[in-house]
Amino acid sequence: MTCTDFLAKLTDFFDGNVPPALMAEVEQHISECKHCEVVLDSTTKTINIYRDSEIYDFPPELQQRLESAIMTRCCGPRDTTK
Ligand SMILES: [Zn+2]
Repeated sequence: MTCTDFLAKLTDFFDGNVPPALMAEVEQHISECKHCEVVLDSTTKTINIYRDSEIYDFPPELQQRLESAIMTRCCGPRDTTK
């Protein structure tokens, strides 16, 4: 699983639509990729806030923000240390 795959599955993940096999892939990816782990963590917190205020609906702008965050951190030109 790549960061892009992870991101593509992220909304399903929070919808609870993740089959066990995919769940295992997601978990494996975040165990190997610090960036996505952080993204997942902060997204979880964001989602919890949305849930608390009962307006839970994965917002497209959040998806976009995550996408650019991951792309910048994982695939950006500055990440040449790996
Ligand atoms: Zn990643």
